[in-house]
Amino acid sequence: MHNSGGRDSVKAAWEKACQSLSHSYSPYSRFSVGAGLVAQNGILYSGCNVENATYGATICAERTAFLKAISEGNRSFSDIVIVTDTVKPTPPCALCLQTMAEFCAPDFMIHIGNLNGISVSYRFCELLTHPFGPSYLLD
Ligand SMILES: [Zn+2]
Repeated sequence: MHNSGGRDSVKAAWEKACQSLSHSYSPYSRFSVGAGLVAQNGILYSGCNVENATYGATICAERTAFLKAISEGNRSFSDIVIVTDTVKPTPPCALCLQTMAEFCAPDFMIHIGNLNGISVSYRFCELLTHPFGPSYLLD
């Protein structure tokens, strides 16, 4: 039993991720990513990757979605859908997993897929098994 926001909200998040992918700013890698983040209260946040000529200032689609949500006062999440325009679905990078470690429970659901749909879903704790999180600092 997990905490997922449910099939309808995951489907809506996938649609949002596909939409956001079309806004990807990725002139250097040409690797477009879209994300749809589901908050516990049902609100959806989208994100795309935004590259930068410095490369280092680039931000991933997943973190864009988290920063949008958090900057609007939402800190509780159930699911994220990550979409790439590739045959092989792409899991979140380690920086994005670390951002998730700050705000997400072990049963937070990560769904990855492409423009044809979601192909695999993981619990957060399956992708980052021993996260460094707030409990190490706030005990
Ligand atoms: Zn990332």
